[in-house]
Amino acid sequence: IYKILKAIEEDRPYWSFEYFPPKTQQAVQNLYDRMERMYRLGPEFIDITWNAGGSSSHLTTEITAIAQSVYGLETIMHLTCTNMPREKIDKALKDAKEAGCQNILALRGDPPRGQEQWEACENGFSYAIDLVKYIREEYGDYFGICVAGYCEGHTDNPDKEDDLRRLKEKVDAGADFIITQLFFDVDLFLEWVKKCRAIGINCPIIPGIIPIQSYAGFKRIITLCKTIVPQYILEDLEPIKDDDAAVKEYGISLTVKMIKQMYANGIKGYHFYTMNLERSTRLILENLNFVPPIEKAKPLPWVPSLAAKRK
Ligand code: FAD
Repeated sequence: IYKILKAIEEDRPYWSFEYFPPKTQQAVQNLYDRMERMYRLGPEFIDITWNAGGSSSHLTTEITAIAQSVYGLETIMHLTCTNMPREKIDKALKDAKEAGCQNILALRGDPPRGQEQWEACENGFSYAIDLVKYIREEYGDYFGICVAGYCEGHTDNPDKEDDLRRLKEKVDAGADFIITQLFFDVDLFLEWVKKCRAIGINCPIIPGIIPIQSYAGFKRIITLCKTIVPQYILEDLEPIKDDDAAVKEYGISLTVKMIKQMYANGIKGYHFYTMNLERSTRLILENLNFVPPIEKAKPLPWVPSLAAKRK
């Protein structure tokens, strides 16, 4: 939050990268290498997802610790309520603090794999707001707290106005800023931001953006998140869907276009769902002239030397 506020005060564009804990040890090492390279792109912060159900939660904690203390990246640890009795929440927060992590993305979480409905566990929380309140009660202002927002409305709540009020409640309970679920309809996002402002949600709202990396991946994610996709995107993709390189290039130009539209409307922070990949995000930032081409970018002016951090 502190670094984010700085970007807002300075009224400059900023961006952040989401990563998830990979399944194998080799992939974890690859992720560290990628994080180190992407550090040069000057993210305001990075964040590490939490596997609902907790099966890889130790990895979330471990990656958060290394990103924060070794790579010197301002890191947000996601934390969900799914299958997390109070003791486990306590341990996760304690580990995060000990690792020097000062930011939590407080979430209810998705249902565990194979389960349709979300259910609170024994001695656990029911909604993200309970976790926000708990963190504030236990840790005061130590943690910056982020919460999730949904410009298309959250799928569990058929009443969009009510969903928006729930978001305001999370902010009123102590959240500092909001990152949104991914979307492809910028008009819809901008309208939703206006609605948030109209009901008194005044904190930063950072749009979550996913560069399309492959047609299969795109289909999977829009099905999973039930995302609204403008017809023109589906039509653009149809003739190139079997050409992986063309889909990637399309994903880059689409994201650049979306960000330009948001920037023109005063939105200056962008959250990238990187899917642990580097190229598309880098090319998007280069294309927008937010960062110089990689070969000239050693290091960016506001990025402290990685070597110094490692000593
Ligand atoms: P909540 O804010 O608790 O809302 C859940 C639903 O309950 C909504 O429909 C809301 O309208 C409704 N609601 C809220 N309060 C009340 C109330 N008092 N009474 C009745 N209804 C209420 N999932 C993971 O498992 N791991 C991750 O790392 C992860 N990272 C994410 C990052 C971002 C930026 C986003 C946008 C989502 C992420 N998710 C993650 C997905 C998220 O966990 C799911 O979308 C989940 O279904 C809702 O979480 P939430 O925190 O938004 O829930």
